[in-house]
Amino acid sequence: MAGKEKVLVKGSNYLDILINADTMVLDKTGTITKGTFEVSDIITNEITKEELINIAGIAESMSNHPIAKSIVKKANIEIDSDSLENFEEIPGMGVIAKYKEDEIVVGNSKIFKNKKIEFNEIDDENAVVYIAKNNKYIGAIIISDVIKEDSIVAIKEFKDNGIKNIYMLTGDNKEIANKVANEVGIKNVFSNLLPVDKVETMQNLKEKCDKLIAIGDGINDSPLLALSDIGVSIGNTGSDLAIETSDIVIMDGKLSSFNKLIKTAKRTKRIVKQNIYFAIAIKIIVLALGAIGISTMWEAVFADVGVTFITVINSLRILKKR
Ligand code: ADP
Ligand code: MG
Repeated sequence: MAGKEKVLVKGSNYLDILINADTMVLDKTGTITKGTFEVSDIITNEITKEELINIAGIAESMSNHPIAKSIVKKANIEIDSDSLENFEEIPGMGVIAKYKEDEIVVGNSKIFKNKKIEFNEIDDENAVVYIAKNNKYIGAIIISDVIKEDSIVAIKEFKDNGIKNIYMLTGDNKEIANKVANEVGIKNVFSNLLPVDKVETMQNLKEKCDKLIAIGDGINDSPLLALSDIGVSIGNTGSDLAIETSDIVIMDGKLSSFNKLIKTAKRTKRIVKQNIYFAIAIKIIVLALGAIGISTMWEAVFADVGVTFITVINSLRILKKR
């Protein structure tokens, strides 16, 4: 049943949590948004735009972060991998690498503040990645991400399906986080979170709620999946580890597909209940008729085999798409 909806459920004991969940935590990048960033602007002063993107591309070449991939895609580089040394990725901040004689830093304002490199902070609704060479700021790359087409509808439907509290957690800055949350109708936003902060936020939320579902793509959000009652990963773009460790995988990456699974779970429970009440009712009736001596062998056979047959037919409705 779930297969048809492009959702992979790794076990049967999640039905009750799906039905009773009151809280959902969503990662932003790659979950609500496509996570396929595109370079939309390049800001430099001393070097050319091509040179800047190439320097950034070299440092990002070993990172799997979607921001890194978009920069590498735009760069025109042939990397001499022997010359690329001391690559270090700092989650939620960026990367540092040494190429030939130069130390390159590519990342957000946090990494620049940490390393005490002076830079011009840019106010933008999109992600801004700053670049430094040998501790000197040399420019910035503006990268935009877009919301998945079905995110707005899916989040509204989650609310209609009984998930009262929906939270968005992100390592991104407040401006970008609020912009995305506003667009998709999420009121509770936690931004600027490093992976360790995500752990703490999740622990606090867990104390407040009954059953918690978390959805993420596994890139800097593994605490979400690990600390939830049901961890859901994004199958088409998510990291292999997340797909491996999550309880449910959304194969087509659409939040609305997961919503259909919740609906199917609720319908399944309704039909199971109907079957139980129906079977018990018929058996009681036949039993009562038998007690006063007016039920025959055939009614007893119907109460057993007939009821089984009808409940099976009724269960088949679960498979039928509405
Ligand atoms: P989210 O929680 O929304 O998935 P992340 O925690 O993956 O976001 O990243 C948060 C921020 O950290 C990014 O918006 C970016 O500014 C910075 N960042 C993380 N990794 C990199 C990288 N490889 N290159 C540049 N910036 C990065
Ligand atoms: Mg992410």
